[in-house]
Order: sequence, then structure tokens, then C-alpha cells
Amino acid sequence: MNIARLPESVEYKILTRQLFMADSDSKTLTSKVRKILEKYNLPTPEELLKEVQTKDKWKKMFKNASNDYWENTWRQELATQSTMKYLQVQHPVVDNPHNLWKSTRPRQHEVQRAEIKARLITGTFILQSNAIKYNKSEVSATCKLCGVDDETREHLLGRCSALSQLREENFTRLRAILFDDNTLTTITQDLDMLIQMILDCTHSSLKDLVVLSKAQETDIERWPQAYCERLVTHRAKIISSN
Ligand SMILES: [Zn+2]
Repeated sequence: MNIARLPESVEYKILTRQLFMADSDSKTLTSKVRKILEKYNLPTPEELLKEVQTKDKWKKMFKNASNDYWENTWRQELATQSTMKYLQVQHPVVDNPHNLWKSTRPRQHEVQRAEIKARLITGTFILQSNAIKYNKSEVSATCKLCGVDDETREHLLGRCSALSQLREENFTRLRAILFDDNTLTTITQDLDMLIQMILDCTHSSLKDLVVLSKAQETDIERWPQAYCERLVTHRAKIISSN
């Protein structure tokens, strides 16, 4: 864009000649630029040369275009993966970390907790139900703690009878953050909603039910990080003592 602002310069003349001569599949800088502009749905190089943008305007234009591109790409990708259904793509996506990382202070213990939670949100935390994906030998999907149902994320976080006491203890904290018993009752009675609240309280599916302030979003993110860590530690203890 700097060259585009200097139409009398030699560089400008080389640039316009290259734009005119180079075919779209060549390895030249101009064809690479053309592809990038096309990818982000920006004006063509010729259009940009015709209507030269100021530095600030161009920066803003490029940032918005790349934000839109990545937001759409990630949304489409997540929509095809059921393990990602609890994860909300942030708006804007660039330079805007997910609430999980925004709410995590740079302390070793908090980062470790956040990692457990990140693996649970993305479905990469190894539970009995997905262990088979990571193991060559046959693994039973049944929960080793209660022996009743398959150990899924939903089971671990909201259903397992062997963890009910731990769950009750931790839900008092959620009650304190929400200040509202009716909302808490609605959430705890609907397993999907509860798991959504635990895994990503910024998800658009919760917006109709509960309006959270930024401070509540941070508190609700920190609360299940500690809750998930307790569950996972307790689970590991029971499994290793069996
Ligand atoms: Zn169980």
C-alpha cells in the first residue's frame, strides 16, 4: 500500500507492470497478494490502486476482513464437529481471546486448571467414552466410578452418582455468582444447559435464559475451572484406588 501512494516511483511502475503481466498462478509477489485479497474478500489490487486508502483506513479494512474470514471459517468448522458443540466462537475472533483464557490469571495453578477445562470443552480430555479413540485395545465406555452409565463429559460434569456430593458442594458457589435461585434451578434441571454453563457460559444458546455481566462471565468461568479440577482429581483418586 505504501507503493500505491507513490504513483511516480519506479516501484509503482514495476508493480503495475507485474499486475498486468503475471498470470494468477505464478509465484510472484503480486499474484500472492492477489490471492490474499481474494481470500479475505477485499478489493482487487487494481481497485486498490485506483482508489488508494489512507494507512489507517487500510489497516482497519484488512483487520475487519480477516476477522470476518476467520470467524466464518471457525464457525463452519465447529458446526461440523459434535465434540465442539459447547464452544462459542468469540466475536471478533482475532486479538480477542476466549473467555476461558481471558478469565485465567497468569499463575501456574490457574493455567493448569484452564488447560483441563480447555480439554473438556474441546472433547480431548480422555474419558472412558472416548478412550477407545486414543487406545489401540478395546476399552469399556462405562464410568469406572459408578459403573452405571457411559462416562461422557455430560456424565462426569452433571450426572455421575459417585460425584454427587462434590457437585452439591460446588454448586453453592454457582448460586452465589448468579444471585438468582430461579435461574439456578432452571439450569440444574436441564442437563444440556448445565453442561453448557459449566463449559462455556458465553455460548449464544444461553443468552435467552440468562444475561450475565462481564464480571459474572469471569466468575462463572473461574468457578467450573476449579470444579472440573476437583472432579478430575477425585476421579483419578477413585480409579487408582480400585
Ligand atoms: Zn459415573
